[in-house]
Amino acid sequence: MIKADNTLVMSGVQLFKRHTFLSVLITLLLVCSQVSATMPNEAPDAGKLLDMTYVFDEKTIYWPTAEPFTLEKLDWKVTPGGWWYASNNYGASEHGGTHVDAPVHFSEKGRTIDQIPLNEWIGPAVKIDVVSKCLKNRNYQLTVKDVKRWEEKNGRLPDNVWVIMYTGIDTRYYPDRKKVLGTAKSGKEALPELSFPGFSAEVADFLVKERHIKGIGLDTPSIDHGKSKDFQVHRICFAANKLAIENIAALDKLPEKGAMLYVIPMLIKDGTGSPARIFAVLP
Ligand SMILES: [Zn+2]
Repeated sequence: MIKADNTLVMSGVQLFKRHTFLSVLITLLLVCSQVSATMPNEAPDAGKLLDMTYVFDEKTIYWPTAEPFTLEKLDWKVTPGGWWYASNNYGASEHGGTHVDAPVHFSEKGRTIDQIPLNEWIGPAVKIDVVSKCLKNRNYQLTVKDVKRWEEKNGRLPDNVWVIMYTGIDTRYYPDRKKVLGTAKSGKEALPELSFPGFSAEVADFLVKERHIKGIGLDTPSIDHGKSKDFQVHRICFAANKLAIENIAALDKLPEKGAMLYVIPMLIKDGTGSPARIFAVLP
């Protein structure tokens, strides 16, 4: 009896252990299958990724009065220990090459780069193609009519969208300073000679008041056209707490709609703007 009871007790323990072991195993398998189902194991197809960033080097286009990009190679040699070591110093002003503007750039109480959450930089992009108009007039300004024409064809601008003006200027000529900026001069004497397309004050006002946009961007060095003296587009956008992108590359390859834009600025504390890696995932 005692032996039988012991056997019963032992069997019970073994059954309990086996049951527990099986439960744990099943739970682990379920967890693993969920993880493998939700964790992507590779980047989007190369053909679906569009890099929209110009390389930073000595040719990078900056505002004529701004400090350009510099790179100082420090080591780049085999050490006495026999291994290779390389490092650089770099420097630049915030507003040059492919970069973003934060609202504080033209709005005293506006946010700085580090105060803008990452998800605000990411969103759908629409492209408004005015290349033929900009070819005829280097100082063309995007109109409300241009936006409405896009909407007639594609429907109302979606919410939280990046509105991208495609002028063809950077896309054709970058990094030729004379052809992009309208002048190859540097410093203050270059400013009266600046000439390139941009948004109009009217369209900026329309976009921030009548539509729910994330921000605006284009393939020139400024969202205001080159001849602007009062930077109204900057002032309207940033008073409304919106974002901006300048000198976007590869706009000829961005579709009119359907792409998701990833704008990844360097996280500069108190930044008024920042160089950014910008890419699109194409539809
Ligand atoms: Zn800027």
